[in-house]
Amino acid sequence: MNDLSFVQRSELFSYSGTNCIRNDYHFNTCQKCVDICPVGAFDIVRNALKLYSNECIECSACIGSCPTEALSIKHFDPNLYTQEFASLEDKTLSCKKTTNCLGAFDAHHYITMVLNAEESPVCDMTHCESCALNKDKKVENFIREEITKANEFLLACGIENSVETLEEKIEEENPKRALFKAAFSKVKDASTKEDVNPNTLSITTLHQRDPNSHGVPLKFLNLKRAIKNNLTKFATTSHETNFGLFAKKEIIFSSCTNCGDCVQFCPTEALLKTSDKQGINFNVGDCIACGICDHICKTDAIHTTEGIDLVNFAYDRGEELVHYEMVMCHECRCPYPYRGGDPICDRCADYQSDFAHVFTMAKDMK
Ligand code: SF4
Ligand code: SF4
Ligand code: SF4
Repeated sequence: MNDLSFVQRSELFSYSGTNCIRNDYHFNTCQKCVDICPVGAFDIVRNALKLYSNECIECSACIGSCPTEALSIKHFDPNLYTQEFASLEDKTLSCKKTTNCLGAFDAHHYITMVLNAEESPVCDMTHCESCALNKDKKVENFIREEITKANEFLLACGIENSVETLEEKIEEENPKRALFKAAFSKVKDASTKEDVNPNTLSITTLHQRDPNSHGVPLKFLNLKRAIKNNLTKFATTSHETNFGLFAKKEIIFSSCTNCGDCVQFCPTEALLKTSDKQGINFNVGDCIACGICDHICKTDAIHTTEGIDLVNFAYDRGEELVHYEMVMCHECRCPYPYRGGDPICDRCADYQSDFAHVFTMAKDMK
């Protein structure tokens, strides 16, 4: 997952094709980065994502929207900031002081900050209205949606702190700075200064993943750790909703053919065959809710349902979604997952129904 030959980049911003789920699975329809980019620097070409690096203004507004951390900027790492947040004196996240555009964060980061610091982060939204990056309010809406998602989760868990916003308008020095050109050069100037942020990391470092994480993004692992460390403070650990953060899975026994496609294409190994190969295990702690498994299943056997057990999530407790008894097909003599009825595998059953008229003709000719 860390092959840097698939990285497209501008001077500071980069996109890793190997970390993008759209590239992982050709039919995935994710285009969150395309939708939020204020200058159209991304496009979908032959169903794959392409970055036009000369168009990219390196604003970082798209970074938080990517579910798999395929996007990064050299001088600011939202995960590092999230991890350091508890020790920061100033708990205000501001694109003018402490961070890049708040579009670099998502609900995973915010919840982790609240749980680790036991304090409320304050998101400075006072610059959004006049910001040139906030075309059609897309960036601002994304930031607000992620804050809402984080707060709904924290509230449901009975956590007192939440993500707050600073809304009061501050007098701008230059009211015309909303002009695109000025804003863009400002972003670039700030980005190239060596001391702009202590989180200076190389692009290589930013796209690296823990080899033991099975492709699970770092923001997801950090959230899992923060929840695990704070479970005893939660009023309840079992919820009937996913909060738009998790995915509970179920497989319908009578529809599943045990073909293994969902297991093969799951980008994080949240789905795995059982050791006897006769069942499928699901680990909610590794599932990034990408929906690839739901989409790839030819028989519509696997589904996402509402609900999350945070103990299972935090402790990586898997569950077996489906289990089969393998029997020998009476036609082809190959083992197949038995689902009741005549002991005949799907392939032979299809063959028999497809060629039923030929068999009837042959019988009549006798
Ligand atoms: S948001 Fe991330 S996963 Fe989705 S298309 Fe963009 S880079 Fe790929
Ligand atoms: S859930 Fe669907 S894709 Fe997965 S093994 Fe069963 S039939 Fe195949
Ligand atoms: S289990 Fe399904 S939704 Fe979850 S990460 Fe794997 S493919 Fe995506």
